[in-house]
Amino acid sequence: MTPEICPNCGAEVPRNARACPACGSDESTGWSETSYEGGLDLPDEEFNYQDFVKREFGGRTPVPHGLHWFWWVVGLIVLAAVLAMWVR
Ligand SMILES: [Zn+2]
Repeated sequence: MTPEICPNCGAEVPRNARACPACGSDESTGWSETSYEGGLDLPDEEFNYQDFVKREFGGRTPVPHGLHWFWWVVGLIVLAAVLAMWVR
């Protein structure tokens, strides 16, 4: 069944049209009840890391970048210790 208004782009769709003349949506790709524009909250394509950090951490950088390798080393040491105890 063809909707009068394309749920994908909002363009008017002629009654006998099988696909939206504006964006090309049709029953298999676009409209019908399971229009993918509906419930899915797709991540923003222009994801801005600075904005994300600002929103999540109130403007502060969560972890200084210099610390990153340090935790890798600590993790490896702990892992090695656990493995050494387990082998013995
Ligand atoms: Zn359309």
